This record gives sequence, C-alpha cells and structure tokens, in this order.
Amino acid sequence: MDIFNINDLPFPQSLPEFQRLFPDDNACASYLERARWIHGFTCPRCLKVGEPFRIPTRPGVLVCRKCRCEDGLTVGTVMERSHTPLRTWFWAAYLVATQTPGISAVQFQRQLGLTRYETAFGILHKLRAGMVRPDQDRIGGQPANHVEVDEAWIGGKTRGEGRGVHHKTLVAAAVEVRHREPGTAQDKRKDGRYAGRVRLAVVADRSADSLCGFVQSTVAPGTLIVSDDWSGYGSLRKLGYDHHAIAECGNPEIAEEFMPIIHLVFSNLKAWLNGTHHGVSPKHLQAYLNEFTFRFNRRFYPFNAFRSLLGIAGGAEAPTYAALYSGDWIHPTCSRCMC
Ligand SMILES: [Zn+2]
Repeated sequence: MDIFNINDLPFPQSLPEFQRLFPDDNACASYLERARWIHGFTCPRCLKVGEPFRIPTRPGVLVCRKCRCEDGLTVGTVMERSHTPLRTWFWAAYLVATQTPGISAVQFQRQLGLTRYETAFGILHKLRAGMVRPDQDRIGGQPANHVEVDEAWIGGKTRGEGRGVHHKTLVAAAVEVRHREPGTAQDKRKDGRYAGRVRLAVVADRSADSLCGFVQSTVAPGTLIVSDDWSGYGSLRKLGYDHHAIAECGNPEIAEEFMPIIHLVFSNLKAWLNGTHHGVSPKHLQAYLNEFTFRFNRRFYPFNAFRSLLGIAGGAEAPTYAALYSGDWIHPTCSRCMC
C-alpha cells in the first residue's frame, strides 16, 4: 500500500499492515508531513504553501522556496530533538495506542529490538507525558445523554492495621451515558446504555466543596446528573445542573439499576490499577487516572490515540510538549509524573 496515493491518512489495523505502511523512516517522514500539513507544506514565517526544498543530507528539514526559512518535520511533536529513528517512535506510539492495558519498558525494549533499556524507558516516558492531561474540555452538554457521578476509595492496601480505608485515596468520577440504537444486538445489555467519555480526579474529601467542585470543573452546566443522595451532591441544582439523586444507593441492586455505567468504570479502573500496575501510590494516582482516562476515552479510536501520542493530531487533540514539561505539577525524574 502506497501512503502517497491515499487522500485520508490511513491507520494500520494490524501489525503486518503497520509493516507495510511504515517500512522505513522515509515512509514515516512522508506520513508526518501529510499529517502536519494537510494542504501541503506551509512556511512558518511567510506562510507560503507549496513544495519545499529538501536537503538530502538533512532529512526532516524543509526549506521554504520563497523566503528560505527552515522548518523541522518533528517541531512541536514528541519526536522533536530526539535521536531515535522516526520508525521507532511510530512503532512505540502504535503499541501504546493499541494495547489496552499498556506496556512495560522491558516489554517495549524487546518488541522494538532496542539495545538500551534507557531508550525504551525514555520513549515510553515521553509518550505517557502526552496522556498526562489530555482532556481539558467538559463532558456532557448533550440533552439526550445524562452523566453519572460517584466517588470511591482507590488503591493502597491495608495490612494488619485494622478496619477502614487506610492509605486509600478518594477518587471522583463522571461518565457520559449513551444509548445504542434500538434493535441492535447489544441494546439488551444494560438497557442499551454504554459509557461515553469519562473524567476522573483525586478529591480531598466527600464534602460539597470537593464533589461539586469536581462536577463544575468536568461537566458542562445544564447537564442532567445522576448521583446517589449523599449531601455532598446536594447543591448541584443551585450550580446550574439538572440533578437526579438516587436514594438507597448503598443497595447494590439499586446502584446497578440506576448507575450501572459509573460502577463499570470504577471496576475497570480498579482492575487496571491492580492487575497491570500492582497498585499505585497516592502521589502518583492522578497520573494513572489521566492515563486511564486517555485510554478509556479513545478505546474505539486508536488512530486518534496514535496521533495524540505523537503530537501530530492537530488542533485541540495535540498536547504541546513544551507546555507539558513546563508545568510545576510535573517533577523531573519519575516515570509517571516524573517526580
Ligand atoms: Zn517562507
């Protein structure tokens, strides 16, 4: 398959297809160019659109024919200033985008055939930075779909310290509930309801300030919100939301009936944290929540995940890596939030 002949950028559906689509760095470079400049190379200085000069000894550098200004193919992407070949980056982003539970640096090193563990670690680390705060806009806002909101204690095992919730962290979640077309095969499960986008955040406590504050920062005003009848959600109406509080949510049958999707999100989250990551410390939890959110919201769209990770998605989808690394919530050395 020749990627130059396809109008819309293709996305490999399998590993053999990946090999055909991206056989070498040149194929990746043309793909990158197409992804960045849909209407052809555009000079960053004089804004002239058109075929640039190319320098054989400096692949990846494009020169404007009018003003001779140089632009790099990888500028503004995760690959900027990296010595790792483009194809390795593409392969890495493809694996991260398509493997549901994620991948360890050791697996990564083997699959990519890298000699140095540090290279694998560094690539993974940078791709993960793209997941750190990928979703800033508020969910909901569609009259047909409501949003379920709930909170749960996550992580931290209690070992011989008595009952309670020691070392656990309170996490608030909001999820859009969507409906399948009636008559399709799946619409009998959970009354045809399924999860849309999700938002997750560590919250300080179960107070109205914390929980309503979470809702305000993650859900569009006017949305119908379904929660339990905990007083922490009591002022949602005053804050401009339509609010439906379910009584007796402590009863599992009632919870399953009225808030099935949020419970699914929490059980998936817990399974992912314990199964894939063997538990997570509280100070890193928000970074893991962000990765979970990134994966969950793109589970039907690996192509979007792939482009977001590489930083070539364009528009709001693309994180700017300079911004990612400048935030003071990121610390320099940890594999997660780099603390
Ligand atoms: Zn120019």
